[in-house]
Amino acid sequence: MKNTKQNKKPAKFVKREIKKEANEPLPEGAALNKSLPAGKGGKKIYQALRGMHDVLPKDEKYWAALYHTAEKLASYYQFARVETPILEEASLFIRSVGKGTDIVDKEMYIFEDRDGTRVALRPEPTAGIVRSYIQHGLWNAPQPVKVWTSGPIFRHDRPQAGRYRQFYQFDFETIGAKDPAMDVELILVAYSIFKDLGISTEVRINSIGDREERARYVAELTNYYRGKRAYLCDDCKNRLSKNPLRLLDCKVEGCQPIKETAPQIIDWLGESSKNYFMKVLEYLDELSIPYLLDHTLVRGLDYYTHTVFEIYESAREADPSAASLTGAQSALAGGGRYDLLAEELGGQSAPAVGFGLGIERAVTVLKALEEKKPGSIPGVVYDVFFAQLGEEAKRRSLKILNELRFSGIRPAFNLFRGSLKAQLETANSLKVPYVLILGQKEVQDKTIIIRDMESGVQEIVDQKKLEAAIKKKLIDRLPK
Ligand code: AMP
Repeated sequence: MKNTKQNKKPAKFVKREIKKEANEPLPEGAALNKSLPAGKGGKKIYQALRGMHDVLPKDEKYWAALYHTAEKLASYYQFARVETPILEEASLFIRSVGKGTDIVDKEMYIFEDRDGTRVALRPEPTAGIVRSYIQHGLWNAPQPVKVWTSGPIFRHDRPQAGRYRQFYQFDFETIGAKDPAMDVELILVAYSIFKDLGISTEVRINSIGDREERARYVAELTNYYRGKRAYLCDDCKNRLSKNPLRLLDCKVEGCQPIKETAPQIIDWLGESSKNYFMKVLEYLDELSIPYLLDHTLVRGLDYYTHTVFEIYESAREADPSAASLTGAQSALAGGGRYDLLAEELGGQSAPAVGFGLGIERAVTVLKALEEKKPGSIPGVVYDVFFAQLGEEAKRRSLKILNELRFSGIRPAFNLFRGSLKAQLETANSLKVPYVLILGQKEVQDKTIIIRDMESGVQEIVDQKKLEAAIKKKLIDRLPK
């Protein structure tokens, strides 16, 4: 018995030791998790910060498809590409987005620069773009100024699926014009990015009127909710004093009946705001863009006026649980009109409208689509594989590859690999119809072998005639 007890003790001891080591440099041979190699020589293996993530080569085709589609649409609808710094004065965001919002109160990466300036990593792209419009006097340019950008956004939120602390957005803005057509042009661009990629979406839309209408509505909403304070969740109690419009965002079950009978902002809009909104909806009807009027959609940022909208993956009628994104993290894009922001930031009046589209969430939906219908998102397709054998062939390879570049033929290759077997295996996995083989003999004869991967038949051609020979073969393969 005594012996058994003694045998158990070391087990406990070992367990505790492993726990302790979790925060320390990993011993050689140990792995933090299955996918991480051991830290050589006991060195710490770094991981991305919580809520931050790497985009890896395996996901490139999804990101490339999105960028390609966004670029095409930006060019067609004449949005010029701009870049603004990721770092701006913190007060720019505080004044634009507004105190009392989650972004400003809880989520900004804010710190003191070495010269003492309080700076923030951009928690949204609009404020920086409007700052740039004012700084460069872009109201002197023909209006509206239509711009787009893409890049990282930072919010120190609680990370979960579909919610990162650094995420990427496409952002489109039309500054210097107030016209329902401008609102809908932007909605159309956002909607088309998804549609062109085979994703069905619907638009949820609302109008929050002008500043005075919104203020009157907020007073009424606050009054209504105050009477029910005792029944509200803690978050809502907080919102009631800090940002009452956000009460309409609450997803807590107990607050839903209260939300359902809350006053609706549409009833507080004047004639002009109502007419404006009606025109936006008529344009959407004209385009047959599916939309849902959502009177609880307010988007909570101080700078919004009139039209606000969000884009969601269409509910899957047959199986709603099959949606790629769920819960509060399911909006794919969101935006709205912000007519007063330029003035508020010290510029001339420049009514504007814009939207941000979350790239990671779009990638999640694209991946689900590819899983359901393989080939929906095609990656790079190679015409041939270029294989080389031996030192001299390798030396010649880059020259031939560089020449092929101008021919429009797309070769895959791996100059690091030397064996023909390994190279043919790669060619096979890439499903290329032909492999070009350059060996010592071919270098001397100035020839190259073209191997048909289906039949295994090989043909020797003069290097000078290579381009024509491959092109002919590729054309012959096209369906007649
Ligand atoms: P927002 O301005 O917050 O509505 O953001 C616009 C879009 O960016 C959203 O519709 C999401 O697709 C995406 N997005 C917002 N926050 C995050 C986040 N924390 N992580 C990933 N994507 C986000």
